[in-house]
Amino acid sequence: MNERDSEQVAQTFSERGYTLTPSEHDADAILINTCSVRDQAEQKALGKMGIMGKHREARPHVVFGFMGCMAQSRGEELFKRIPHLDVVVGTQKYHRVFDYVDSVLTRRLKGRMDEVGAEMVTNRVEDEVVQVNAHKVISARVVDTDEEVGSQNTIRDHVPREMRRAKAFVSIMQGCNMRCSFCIVPDTRGKERGRPIADIVQEVEGLVSEGVKEVTLLGQIVNLYGRTEFKNVDGKSPFVQLLEAVHAIEGLERIRFTSPHPIGFRDDLVAAFTYLPKLCSHIHFPMQSGSDRILKKMRRPYKNEKFLAICAKMKAARPDLSITTDIIVGFPGETEEDFQESMKCMREIGFDNSFIFRYSIRKDTPAAEMEGQLDEATKERRNQEMLAQQDEMTMAKNERFIGTRQAVLCEGPSKTNKERLCGRTSQNKIVIFDGDAERMTGEIFDVIIEDSTGFTLYGTPMLE
Ligand code: SF4
Repeated sequence: MNERDSEQVAQTFSERGYTLTPSEHDADAILINTCSVRDQAEQKALGKMGIMGKHREARPHVVFGFMGCMAQSRGEELFKRIPHLDVVVGTQKYHRVFDYVDSVLTRRLKGRMDEVGAEMVTNRVEDEVVQVNAHKVISARVVDTDEEVGSQNTIRDHVPREMRRAKAFVSIMQGCNMRCSFCIVPDTRGKERGRPIADIVQEVEGLVSEGVKEVTLLGQIVNLYGRTEFKNVDGKSPFVQLLEAVHAIEGLERIRFTSPHPIGFRDDLVAAFTYLPKLCSHIHFPMQSGSDRILKKMRRPYKNEKFLAICAKMKAARPDLSITTDIIVGFPGETEEDFQESMKCMREIGFDNSFIFRYSIRKDTPAAEMEGQLDEATKERRNQEMLAQQDEMTMAKNERFIGTRQAVLCEGPSKTNKERLCGRTSQNKIVIFDGDAERMTGEIFDVIIEDSTGFTLYGTPMLE
């Protein structure tokens, strides 16, 4: 989701004459889109921004900004941590980033920074002289973390690519109304807000006209899309109505979505997998824990039985479905018995892959204050045990693909070996093969799977 928001901001800069540069050394504006899900991510962003302050020495006009979740939750406090910081923009104001940055940069380049208190795009701006690396620079100090009605409708543009791209992410909503005790998202992203179906369809049509074959619909709880704004029609939720509308777009071949939640994962969504063939045979479905006791402490308002039942129904609806998940180990108060329940559920469902997180304290969340915080050694042991179990299941599952013929969407050169191409099956399995990137990127064709090294499949394309 952050990646998608960053792309939106990048596009607003590029359509107004700026150029994206891969090197921070050439940049006139350096923005970091921050994640607050883990404390570690915040520390990393602060460290990186601190180091980048050195660019002010040679290029005093450079504008530095934080946007996203950490900007939202920490606001002005960030100026104390990072003296060279100019702009702090929250999660409902991505569409304003350009105006703030451009305004500061233009004035700096024109050498008008002595105009203390000059008018800018908001009245929350105060120019002041601050000492940075022995230099005195004027800092604009823009902070905008307010809520904004309709901000979910502003994440809709995409950066044009030199090379055809096979797939794209589409943000369909913002915010979350849940209150999981380990999560800071409801504070940083606000309440659930969905975009109108017609706007989303128009965005996808635009992508398809540029050659995109697959879209992934994004939301914090994607299956709850539109529940507060739009009505059910013929027993179908707004999310299923959206899936049907996107499915009808000619030229679009594949639809994915992430991430669904057991709450609101109803039979209409399960049924959609039986009559919408463009829906890929994969769901990423966060389990978090297999223990009801821990789910309760996590403030996940359902029992594990419900999670298992949804997985079973989904597999019945789409027999070749792959399911991946997120699991937290070592949550406060997790006993060995709770942990073993998670291990058992993993085996029962047979996840194709899991993102396993060792619980770490996230400041400003209820779980951070809970009693029964586990020691690091216990968390690490459980983490390793779970990883080993998942690795074994993933390898066994992937081996079953050897000798089969799979439809693969070619995404272009492989990240690890540019000489080869990579693509994905409907089950979201990565496949590596040889071929011509120019001709094959963005195409769907069959690949005979010949080998598997655990997480990656290898094969030979069958081109007509
Ligand atoms: S469902 Fe829970 S974990 Fe997911 S974004 Fe909402 S509060 Fe966070």
